Amino acid sequence: DYSTPTVRNYELDRSLITPSAKIGVGQFGDVYVGTYTLPKLGKGKNLAGNGKNSNSDQRNADSRPDVIQVAIKTCKANDDPEKTENFLAEAYIMQKFDHPHIIRLIGICSVMPIWIVMELAKLGELRAYLKTNSERLSHGTLLKYCYQLSTALSYLESKKFVHRDIAARNVLVSSPTCVKLADFGLSRWVSDQSYYHSTPTVALPIKWMSPESINFRRFTTASDVWMFGVCIWEILMLGVKPFQGVKNSDVILKLENGERLPLPPNCPPRLYSLMSQCWAYEPLKRPNFKRIKETLHEILIEDSIN
Ligand code: ADP
Repeated sequence: DYSTPTVRNYELDRSLITPSAKIGVGQFGDVYVGTYTLPKLGKGKNLAGNGKNSNSDQRNADSRPDVIQVAIKTCKANDDPEKTENFLAEAYIMQKFDHPHIIRLIGICSVMPIWIVMELAKLGELRAYLKTNSERLSHGTLLKYCYQLSTALSYLESKKFVHRDIAARNVLVSSPTCVKLADFGLSRWVSDQSYYHSTPTVALPIKWMSPESINFRRFTTASDVWMFGVCIWEILMLGVKPFQGVKNSDVILKLENGERLPLPPNCPPRLYSLMSQCWAYEPLKRPNFKRIKETLHEILIEDSIN
């Protein structure tokens, strides 16, 4: 039965997964591109579940791809159950989401070697893609990427979910016109109005962080909004990282002096105004993702007319 069951079992049969080339290095281990052979429909079963195979059901079953391309995240062998839990935590988080601009979890192999199998973003990391294709990328395309990410973030906001590591390095490219949010390693669920204090041992992305995150390790949807402002800046700068040449420890001084990232070349004034609102010192003065999404949509339309 291929209708969406209420509770899905994410455990995959490892013999159906074939890793091939290494495409990346993660915090816990290497990442491979590979294939996943979808399990066959059971005999005598059809999509309507009435035990009879009509021609159209047969066609539907036959047109379903047998093999799909996937990304396989591996976890280096270790005997620390906490490490393994942390690795799998990302998969547990990803399985809760269903959005066209968030990388989907396909499943896991939960016995060693532990694998997390995800939807493959064929064109890889956004920053590298922006750098390689800087000549050909239109202004409208960059705006579209920002808009697509805002829809994903508005979705996470509606689920009361704080990502905590929104940055161009965590965006992947599926096709020239489609980007997706990835990397839920730092993410945490938060209940309404509450916030999460991070443990001081993890390396923090200071140059992307809001003043309250830097000063008090306070992470909320409003601090995600700040980070998204920085991510928009990176996209418009075609993959340049923020605050180049500035020491991490000097970033907060600049922010408290009222300094902000500069206007990127060719950035529509309305977009820079939106980014500047995301960088309001007071978290409550920042727009929420729903507003950001609506504004980006308007900017996108304006841009396509002009
Ligand atoms: P970690 O969060 O553990 O450091 P990442 O999720 O950043 O690991 O993965 C490391 C790299 O592997 C990424 O930067 C990217 O190049 C590649 N990668 C990860 N997931 C995918 C995917 N779904 N599709 C394509 N490439 C991916």
